[in-house]
Amino acid sequence: MVSTGFIKALADAVGKDNLLMDEADRAVYAYDAAVLEPVMPAAVVRPVTAESLGRVVRLCHESNVPLTVRGAGTNLSGGTIPKAHGVVVLTNALNRILELHEEDLYAVVEPGVITAKFAAAVEARGLFYPPDPGSQAVSTLGGNVAENAGGLRGLKYGVTRDYVMGLEFFDVHGDVIKTGARTVKCVTGYNLASLLVGSEGTLGVIYKIFLKLIPQPQHRKSMMAVFDAVSGASQTVAAIIAEKIVPATLEFLDNFTIRAVESFSRAGLPTDAAAMLLIEVDGHPAQVEEDAAKLETICRRLGAQQLRVAQTAEERDKVWEARRAALSALAKLKPTVVLEDATVPRSRIPDMVQAVQEIAAKYNLTIGTFGHAGDGNLHPTILTDRRNTEEWHRVERAVEEIFDRALAMGGTLSGEHGIGLAKAPFMEKETTRATLQYARRIKRALDPKNILNPGKVIGEA
Ligand SMILES: Cc1cc2nc3c(=O)[nH]c(=O)nc-3n(C[C@H](O)[C@H](O)[C@H](O)COP(=O)(O)OP(=O)(O)OC[C@H]3O[C@@H](n4cnc5c(N)ncnc54)[C@H](O)[C@@H]3O)c2cc1C
Repeated sequence: MVSTGFIKALADAVGKDNLLMDEADRAVYAYDAAVLEPVMPAAVVRPVTAESLGRVVRLCHESNVPLTVRGAGTNLSGGTIPKAHGVVVLTNALNRILELHEEDLYAVVEPGVITAKFAAAVEARGLFYPPDPGSQAVSTLGGNVAENAGGLRGLKYGVTRDYVMGLEFFDVHGDVIKTGARTVKCVTGYNLASLLVGSEGTLGVIYKIFLKLIPQPQHRKSMMAVFDAVSGASQTVAAIIAEKIVPATLEFLDNFTIRAVESFSRAGLPTDAAAMLLIEVDGHPAQVEEDAAKLETICRRLGAQQLRVAQTAEERDKVWEARRAALSALAKLKPTVVLEDATVPRSRIPDMVQAVQEIAAKYNLTIGTFGHAGDGNLHPTILTDRRNTEEWHRVERAVEEIFDRALAMGGTLSGEHGIGLAKAPFMEKETTRATLQYARRIKRALDPKNILNPGKVIGEA
């Protein structure tokens, strides 16, 4: 239990209006988007300045109270489920775009800035910030950095890591650590930013982010390729990559997901298709036309019966919005939704799609599959009801088999959703015990009292 003295010190640090102690308030922050048991925090704080955030970190360390930072809580791996009697620290009041430099192509932001708002502000200046997780309308840049979030444009533009030029964060003592610079090149000291990106709040608390921007592509073309066989769609993905075309986006949706999304968003998707690919190419207009023509040839060769090209920006945006709604659409169908993101080398996408179908049949489960096929990153999504214990056991076995099949193909447990609590027990499937011990030694060296988001990524340090 935390002491009354500690709670009073928290109130002093953030102001009493930014300290939430009511049970109903705390319950809101006991869970996130992962299917895991909620854990009640002892207190929730909402610092409104970086300085008060640093004070909270210092206080937690001095008082041996575990601390979990929370952006929008959209992570799918339990990364923001607090430790019992711990403190949840919200970043949503630290939501300013501090600087935006058109001439030097970078921005400086606070961690609570909403991803889509930032992308829109950047676009208004004729620039581009590509990382676009499906959750971008609510996710925060701090959460994106701490998860190394991907998104729909990963194939051509990479993931959040590729845009982090530098970070300022608090170590567990509440001391300021600065890494990286405003310059394109910087090799001054250890690359601590790389250590922090994807560390899921376990190594430091980020309060300032330097993000690289790029010029906007001149032209974009979006198309939908409709297939009457799943294998045609998955083989097309592999063929596009093999022909060395790099679309900005190459997304796969199976029939189950198409139907769920269409009834949710009414975007005019082909509900009788076995599968479809959503593809966007961008860049110089001549290159875009050339790539689009090549893509059409590949799609038709591998059995696409229809190829619809978006004729207007509205038409294009409607389809992409529908795609972004895939998880929400599936989540409406059953009380519990388990979304996985095991990832395989891209050429193995046809095998992975087939593996998921076999696993669904073997365990008699409903699995909708969609995702960033061009990155080898599918999201098999199991629809279930956790209260059905017998079915839940089958779900657990199916999830483990998805991991095993992906790893056997040279893949990884998580392409973008992180390890958190949910996948920590499976880490040894992918890596060696010595690797985990190595990571734990880093954690113990930087956070000997295990204050920062304990239990995530590496299990118990
Ligand atoms: C509908 C939906 C679609 C999604 N689509 C994608 C997708 O396409 N690609 C993808 O990669 N993910 C996706 N996600 C997962 C999720 O949105 C991302 O992981 C996102 O980056 C989380 O951002 P957040 O602000 O919600 O962070 P949170 O969930 O609040 O936190 C995530 C992690 O970051 C840590 N953290 C947060 N802020 C800080 C900070 N300031 N300092 C240190 N640590 C911090 C937290 O402790 C936690 O471990 C999706 C989720 C949903 C619900």
